[in-house]
Amino acid sequence: MNEIILLKLGEIVLKGLNRRSFEDRLIANAQRRLRPFGAFRVYTRQSTLYVEPQDAACDLEGAYGAMKKLFGVAGLSRARSCPKDKDALVAAAQDYLGDRLAAAKTFKVESKRADKSFPMTSIQLSQYVGGELHDRYPHLKVDVRRPELTVYLEIRDYAAYVHPGPEAGAGGLPVGINGRAVSLLSGGIDSPVASWMIAKRGIALDMVHFFSYPYTSLEAKQKVLDLAKLLTPWCGRLMVHVVPFTAIQEELRRSCPEELFTILMRRFMMRIAQRVARRIQAGAIVTGESLGQVASQTMEAMKATGAVCDLPILRPVVGMDKEEIVTIARKINTFETSILPYEDCCTVFTPRHPRLRPLPGEIEAAEAKLDIDALVQAAVEGIERVRVDP
Ligand code: ATP
Ligand code: MG
Repeated sequence: MNEIILLKLGEIVLKGLNRRSFEDRLIANAQRRLRPFGAFRVYTRQSTLYVEPQDAACDLEGAYGAMKKLFGVAGLSRARSCPKDKDALVAAAQDYLGDRLAAAKTFKVESKRADKSFPMTSIQLSQYVGGELHDRYPHLKVDVRRPELTVYLEIRDYAAYVHPGPEAGAGGLPVGINGRAVSLLSGGIDSPVASWMIAKRGIALDMVHFFSYPYTSLEAKQKVLDLAKLLTPWCGRLMVHVVPFTAIQEELRRSCPEELFTILMRRFMMRIAQRVARRIQAGAIVTGESLGQVASQTMEAMKATGAVCDLPILRPVVGMDKEEIVTIARKINTFETSILPYEDCCTVFTPRHPRLRPLPGEIEAAEAKLDIDALVQAAVEGIERVRVDP
């Protein structure tokens, strides 16, 4: 196989000290994502990660698509490899980029020499290959400032490569490099985006979903599993912890003031999420809350829900407008699933007049009537774990 994928490492290049572990994690993540597409060799050299197909059965197109969603990659391109020889480079460029050379009006050649023993300088090589290509495609004009097509030549340790320049990668940091968090995944638009944003910072996720059967349907649960599946190309394999939440909601409705219902329910969500986090040694809880979006997303409400757990609560979309969140949801392909019309547990039990700013002592008084530990314990014991593979 003489076509490979070149990945430019992202921010990890900056982190001199941890570089090794960053690269190891990125390679491991890449290998796992590549598995469905055939046998590939994956290794790094000089801030570039090489993905080399090992036989003709490899699906390079599929592999490239998977690598575009790999966090930790700043840019990527498919490239043709050839012997480290100026005429081999001309032939490779002509063969590999012939259609583009024929279609473009202007071009330039840019060379990089990592192998300093190569007998020409970068400028000499660019001029030579540029001249040869110009002879073969006489309609082309050289434009060094804004060429329609740039032919990149790279002379590396083992081979030379020709490619048409990198596309933007997924950015961020390799998933898993910064630990693990528990993400509260509802069926809405915001929490898949929040999960994606935190995974992008190198954090592996476990999902927690609160399920209120039969107030919410099996379709609603399936929708959440579908959303988790849509996130796996970025996050890798996900465990979804489905928490039976109906008993707690019914107990709250029976014994607590209606206007406090949402906030009390959210405190239970946090307590349970924290129990899950402890069990899997996660260091934080992620939510899709956005300030002011609904009654339960005021500063005071966040204080009241945060008070029941001591892990940090990460709210990556807290300062974003709905439109901005939707833009990301579309980009990561969760939007269409999020807007499917299945109720989540919050809409079923939403109070008519939720309290925006609970008074001091009010929440504690309402909760004093409840056996909190027993309710939490029963919910935790009833958790169903569903593994979602990419
Ligand atoms: P989303 O679009 O993510 O559903 P939302 O705007 O509907 O958010 P809320 O329903 O107030 O907002 O929920 C705020 C956050 O609480 C969600 O983003 C999610 O992280 C969490 N959450 C809400 N309901 C559930 C649920 N049933 N299971 C798990 N997490 C939930
Ligand atoms: Mg919701």
